[in-house]
Amino acid sequence: MEVTLLHNSPLEVVIKAIRKCYASEGKSDSGKSFRGHDDSFKDAKWELGPKDKALIRHIIKSDHTSTLEHLTFSFDIDGLSRAALQELARHRHASLSVKSTRYTLKEIRESEDLEPFLVDTGDVDLDGLSYAQLCDLQALLKVKDVPNDRAKYPLPESFKTSLIWTINARSLRNFLKLRSSKGALWEMRDLAEEVFKLIPNDMKFVFEDYVEGVTDDN
Ligand SMILES: Cc1cc2nc3c(=O)[nH]c(=O)nc-3n(C[C@H](O)[C@H](O)[C@H](O)COP(=O)(O)OP(=O)(O)OC[C@H]3O[C@@H](n4cnc5c(N)ncnc54)[C@H](O)[C@@H]3O)c2cc1C
Repeated sequence: MEVTLLHNSPLEVVIKAIRKCYASEGKSDSGKSFRGHDDSFKDAKWELGPKDKALIRHIIKSDHTSTLEHLTFSFDIDGLSRAALQELARHRHASLSVKSTRYTLKEIRESEDLEPFLVDTGDVDLDGLSYAQLCDLQALLKVKDVPNDRAKYPLPESFKTSLIWTINARSLRNFLKLRSSKGALWEMRDLAEEVFKLIPNDMKFVFEDYVEGVTDDN
């Protein structure tokens, strides 16, 4: 599985949302600092101030986490199994755009090597079963003209999918809590780990209290 962070909105919007609620915009200590070589504007970088960071920690502790919905992340997830995709889709407060099986079935029809289409579980017997199933499907599709909306039914659960996933920080906290736990499906735990790693370092503190196991090595 390959996961890429395509885009994230700025933390600045969360500060503005919280301070709007408390009418304390003037107390924000975040902003652009000029630490570049020549103090020019192009080197200015927005930085989170200690007061604002403490405020975010406070709203998390007091469960005022609707303000975190203003912070969003978009990921490109490639190579997640259909088995894991149906679990990912259970997270209702996120948006998914998944590559249509119309195109993957076309690739199966034309491909000489089917192994790259399947997620490896690490169990040779189980992986062999999935492979045989896909080979059988390919053989059938070569001799029979079956429409794609029927041909997708025998696809194995280990068949790889590709999608764009957009989620806000409140929902991502819930996802990381549930899917980094030891009870979660191994592939979902792998996904949670990859996603957490890709969150920009200065935003990781928003999620740290909700991540089990993922941060053990850090
Ligand atoms: C270890 C594990 C085992 C699981 N096993 C199963 C299983 O055997 N069978 C199965 O069907 N699912 C199973 N699930 C999926 C689980 O039940 C959830 O559907 C999934 O984790 C998404 O969580 P969520 O509803 O909190 O997320 P989201 O859908 O993103 O919702 C986020 C939060 O919004 C609120 N919310 C959303 N919708 C509603 C609503 N309609 N009413 C009230 N509040 C709402 C809730 O507070 C919820 O926590 C499992 C999940 C895990 C992590």
